[in-house]
Amino acid sequence: MRVIYPGSFDPITYGHLDIITRCSEKFDEVIIAVLNNNKKNNLFSVEERIELLEKATKHLPNVETDSFSGLLIDYASEKGCSTIVRGLRVVSDLEYEMQMALVNKKLYPDLETLFLVSSSEFSFLSSSLVREVAAFKGDVGCFVPKDVEIALNEKFKGGSK
Ligand code: ADP
Repeated sequence: MRVIYPGSFDPITYGHLDIITRCSEKFDEVIIAVLNNNKKNNLFSVEERIELLEKATKHLPNVETDSFSGLLIDYASEKGCSTIVRGLRVVSDLEYEMQMALVNKKLYPDLETLFLVSSSEFSFLSSSLVREVAAFKGDVGCFVPKDVEIALNEKFKGGSK
């Protein structure tokens, strides 16, 4: 079984990596799909986010990283994959995630969205929190892989953006 794990990944955190690792153990193939959305004010470019994801998952042979723009359902049908995985951290994630899953189901009835509950040690963790800590020169070493920490320090070298 092949699954797509879509998101912004701006940047990847240990929370994302936990979901990816667990998916790689349960499914034959995992496609991490980075959303290329110009409207979002991203810190890292799509290319940078892909590079950081590839470095963080290079030990997982059945995981590949790709990007998409437009509707997720169009990308999923193009890939011939009808299973999406999303992570759930806290109850407040559920409202938005359910809305999105139901809209996607309406537009693409074959599509199933599977939710993986975050491991408790990462349930507080988000990319936006990591960006904020890094912007003020806080230590993000326990939230993100080393390559991401280096990339964040590089981004904020001259002060916060
Ligand atoms: P989006 O911008 O689509 O919310 P993110 O890059 O923030 O994308 O997250 C992608 C997916 O990973 C989402 O399903 C999100 O709920 C999940 N996720 C993010 N952080 C964590 C975490 N700490 N633990 C588990 N899942 C997470």
